[in-house]
Amino acid sequence: KKTITRLPTWLKTPIPTSTNYKQIKHDLRGLNLHTVCEEARCPNISDCWGGSDKSRATATIMLMGDTCTRGCRFCSVKTDRAPPPLDPHEPEHTAEALARWGLGYVVLTSVDRDDLPDGGARHFADTIRRIKRKRPATLVEALTGDFQGDAALVREVALSGLDVYAHNVETTDALTAGVRDRRATFAQSLRVLAAAKEARPELITKTSMMLGLGETEEQMWDALRRLRGVGVDVVTFGQYMRPTKRHMKVEEYVTPAVFEMWRERALEMGFLYCASGPLVRSSYKAGEAFIENVLL
Ligand code: SF4
Ligand code: SF4
Repeated sequence: KKTITRLPTWLKTPIPTSTNYKQIKHDLRGLNLHTVCEEARCPNISDCWGGSDKSRATATIMLMGDTCTRGCRFCSVKTDRAPPPLDPHEPEHTAEALARWGLGYVVLTSVDRDDLPDGGARHFADTIRRIKRKRPATLVEALTGDFQGDAALVREVALSGLDVYAHNVETTDALTAGVRDRRATFAQSLRVLAAAKEARPELITKTSMMLGLGETEEQMWDALRRLRGVGVDVVTFGQYMRPTKRHMKVEEYVTPAVFEMWRERALEMGFLYCASGPLVRSSYKAGEAFIENVLL
């Protein structure tokens, strides 16, 4: 089997200009807030941060530390069965920093914390409540793990005052076992998305899939049908990129035309909106998309 060594042209992006980084660093200086955008040197930073309108800008923040209790085959986050304890001041610090920053849309995400009795659900909910109390105009998306399928924990987060509940299925049902940690299943992730919708039907629910893992059209249809079946509103598609040689291989570099095709199909199936493209990540321009498709 041939190994793919060279990146197709559409994945070669210009390195974000230093002025952008300077602006971000300037905004973040002294806030003691760590964005995934900056730390992962995300190629979308100029899109998410672009323009002068801060009320539409999106940034992603990681809660609950940098060590995950799971080990998915596509992910470069470090793994440990017993990560350090939560920082009890994190919810307040995060809310304080976001209020001072004045950012329009924040995506709160986290590692999975199977070591905690509630998987960190209370910590998530507490952070969201504090953000909304300090600056109600901040739009909040929570991108959570599956809480081992515990609907009560999903409910706790879903009722904390957030605007979008996101949980990623990552890939098709058939490929899940080879891609995600063995504690994750497609059905369990569907239950998480269903539980969030049941807790608050007007809440926007969202999921994301990586393409290029060897998924077939049939499997994709199956996934999208079942996601719509539990009322998922938003779906995003991006190319899987192998973080290191120890991670699973890229099976295919999906062309921009195929990404566009899946975007159109998703909209035809009734998804409210869909970001789809080789460099799209689930938080890609999420603020702008939410404002244009839900608020306006
Ligand atoms: Fe940040 Fe996500 Fe946008 Fe990348 S795609 S810049 S991580 S908000
Ligand atoms: Fe990475 Fe999330 Fe899997 Fe943890 S659960 S290994 S953070 S993808």
